Amino acid sequence: MAVRRPERRIRERWQTDAACRGPEASVFFPPTFPERRDDREVRERQAKMICASCPVRLDCLEHAVNIREQHGIWGGLNENERRPLMESRAG
Ligand code: SF4
Repeated sequence: MAVRRPERRIRERWQTDAACRGPEASVFFPPTFPERRDDREVRERQAKMICASCPVRLDCLEHAVNIREQHGIWGGLNENERRPLMESRAG
């Protein structure tokens, strides 16, 4: 238990500084209903603009790759853009 605490604190720290906290967080993930391609592109562009100025972008991307996150925008990349990073670490 005591060993896990520092690790947890680090994870919470970058999430605390995330630029996507708040009402705009919904643009980072697809809606629960089918999304048209052009709507998806607009939504992802909005999310990536927020990521571009996020102070914890690299921590976020690293986290998403490490946990092999399959959905949403993390660290400025969508799931398709993160796939090569995940594959490069698979072997
Ligand atoms: S990089 Fe983007 S998704 Fe990650 S914490 Fe920052 S704003 Fe949120």
